[in-house]
Amino acid sequence: MTVRVRLAPSPTGTLHIGTARTALYNWLFATREGGQFLLRIEDTDKERSKPEYTTNILEGLKWLGLNWDEEPIIQSKRINEHRSAIQSLLDLGLAYRCYVTDKELEIMREGQREKGKAPRYDNRHRNLSFEEESKFLSEGKEAVIRFRIEDETLIQWNDLVRGQMRWNASDLGGDMVIARRAPAQRIGDPLYNLVVVVDDASMGITHVIRGEDHIANTAKQLLLYKALGLESPQFAHTPLILNQEGRKLSKRDGVTSINEFRSMGYTAEAMANYMTLLGWSVPEGMTERFSINQASLVFGFDRVNKAGAKFDWDKLNWLNAQVIHNWPSEALLKSLKPLWIKEGWELPNHEWCIDLTKLIGPSLTLINDGVIQSRPFFENPILETDGIKQLEVEGAKEALKCLLENINKSPWDGINQNKAKELLENSAKSAGVKKGLIMKSLRAALLGRMQGPDLISTWSLLARISKDSDRLRRCL
Ligand code: GLU
Repeated sequence: MTVRVRLAPSPTGTLHIGTARTALYNWLFATREGGQFLLRIEDTDKERSKPEYTTNILEGLKWLGLNWDEEPIIQSKRINEHRSAIQSLLDLGLAYRCYVTDKELEIMREGQREKGKAPRYDNRHRNLSFEEESKFLSEGKEAVIRFRIEDETLIQWNDLVRGQMRWNASDLGGDMVIARRAPAQRIGDPLYNLVVVVDDASMGITHVIRGEDHIANTAKQLLLYKALGLESPQFAHTPLILNQEGRKLSKRDGVTSINEFRSMGYTAEAMANYMTLLGWSVPEGMTERFSINQASLVFGFDRVNKAGAKFDWDKLNWLNAQVIHNWPSEALLKSLKPLWIKEGWELPNHEWCIDLTKLIGPSLTLINDGVIQSRPFFENPILETDGIKQLEVEGAKEALKCLLENINKSPWDGINQNKAKELLENSAKSAGVKKGLIMKSLRAALLGRMQGPDLISTWSLLARISKDSDRLRRCL
């Protein structure tokens, strides 16, 4: 049997981290099993589905390296198949038209609530007589189509993550609506649980891997598989991603879309690595820093946790830094360059850009930090508080003045280790200050702040594009 799994996103929003993690687990499992990973765009909610969300979802998956097999299936194009499945359930007597209005349903639920019972549909139109139904029809009443759920049924499956699952059909809320309200001669729009079953079966899906918020749907879907005479797939329900308070991560927690993480400067590798760890633990001997190809060699549901996974920014940041620090400079430059250009900075030659990348690379956590870190190399820096403080230290200005004089005196061919050492030592001597003071003051003058990469390398890189006397002069 070839493993066939799918991601079935609804294009009603941008690619959410939860959906991306589901995609990842599907991809890892399919890759491990030498199977296929398919996509189905569940666009049946006509009001909320938008083509730009589909584009966003596909782009996000590609960015993460989650390539899929075959053309994505567009669910709305399969409505005839969905309708004919409903028709066959009607023909078999396993589904029926229900004419109960929303108002009547509300009254029904109210009554149940008053009696302290859980709200459910009381199956009242399950066995309408010919006369009763004719009456509704003659009144032009609209109907939903409901699938019969026998309360005594025990639904069981062996979940690949959660083990043996048991669900009482009586807890499913009564006979389930599978088609929206429509004139009674027609079949209204087919609904989620029905269409998923029809589509998964037609796509030959062998394993449904999705979030645990779908467990109750699985119970309902298993009943539909049976009623339609279809073989059911295996199920794996993955833990939810939680916020710091232990609640399901939602829009209110700030960043949740893959494109938001991307534009903050997270790398696809770190995101995929981190998302894999959100709910899966590495086998012994494997480090937590891995590529998805490496993970796909060992991924299995036995190491997927049942408990929800708390989102941990520190860990994601750590992974992102690891990824960036291990990139070859050329690769990092490729990510930095567009950001520099966006700032309107004129880039000197390639070699210089590579050297700047090498200089700032080790201090980056996010790619976007590369803008802050490299700003003083492209623009005269603003003097920050710690820089100003340094320049107010006794002897600092005098030291810089001497340094400037020494620079102007000697022939200019840039700065290297020896030249820097000589200039700094001579200037410290003539200003009567310690070498440390002059170095700190030079850092303040060149970068405007006291933090930054190695001073001499910074100086020599800056010296390759200008003598930088201005930066020193303005501090005097
Ligand atoms: N469209 C559903 C969702 O986005 C798919 C659920 C499923 O995988 O069956 O939640």
